[in-house]
Amino acid sequence: MTPDTLVALEGVTCTYGKGPAAIRDVDLRIEAGRFTGLVGPSGSGKTTVLRVVLDAIRPSSGTVFRAPDLRVAYVPQIETVNWDFPVTVSEVVLMARTSARLLPWPSRAERRQVDEVLERLGLPGLGSRHIRELSGGQQQRVFLARALLARPQLLLLDEPTSGVDVRTRHEVLHLLSDLNASGIAILLTTHDLNGIAAHLPHLVCLNGEVLAAGHPADVITPDVLQRTYGAPLDVLVHGGMRVVVDPHGAVQVIE
Ligand code: ADP
Ligand code: MG
Repeated sequence: MTPDTLVALEGVTCTYGKGPAAIRDVDLRIEAGRFTGLVGPSGSGKTTVLRVVLDAIRPSSGTVFRAPDLRVAYVPQIETVNWDFPVTVSEVVLMARTSARLLPWPSRAERRQVDEVLERLGLPGLGSRHIRELSGGQQQRVFLARALLARPQLLLLDEPTSGVDVRTRHEVLHLLSDLNASGIAILLTTHDLNGIAAHLPHLVCLNGEVLAAGHPADVITPDVLQRTYGAPLDVLVHGGMRVVVDPHGAVQVIE
């Protein structure tokens, strides 16, 4: 543990009910200011790791260290959110505040903060719109706005670019890089190796257990990918970037 350690998982195993372990013996350390991508196929335990970091589930074994008074914010995967309730953009963003507020309505200062954060995320003037009227990328940014209102030291995002188009994916990635440059540590999950993972400074490959961790140049290799995805994948180097190619069309890693 260093003074910069925000969260550290050591030998963490999690089991849901009587099922097999969802994650096994996971070691993961998140330092202040880091930007880490958690990569693995569907069902590999990525969301479970986020839940442990968030303190939303308790491991069946292993230890979790969390820096005292750590402010963590979580952006859920938008496809898993139920939009059937009528709620505006401002109301969603203000949900960040409900537990700390005494008054049932937002203060003027809070309204100003919401407007500021929406502006910062490129959503000015959308506060009174119904959340369902927005595109997937805009909904994603609304949740990001809500997360930022809590002034987190660590931001967790679950599949932030699944279901959004290529342009939105670039925007989200730029936005997250800017937030990271402003000092916020980020841990995101993704199954998108070429669109997201290859652009991040640090990756952790997961398939129930951690198979590799390091810079994309070190972990995006045929050997690690074979063990992570259970299928043979080729890696080409194009313009200094690693590009993963699925020669058999067996797994969906390229969007
Ligand atoms: P990923 O996010 O990589 O798709 P998850 O962490 O969601 O993986 O799931 C890991 C494993 O745990 C899967 O086998 C999944 O079926 C199981 N699992 C996840 N959430 C639950 C739950 N609430 N109850 C039972 N099993 C679960
Ligand atoms: Mg998941």
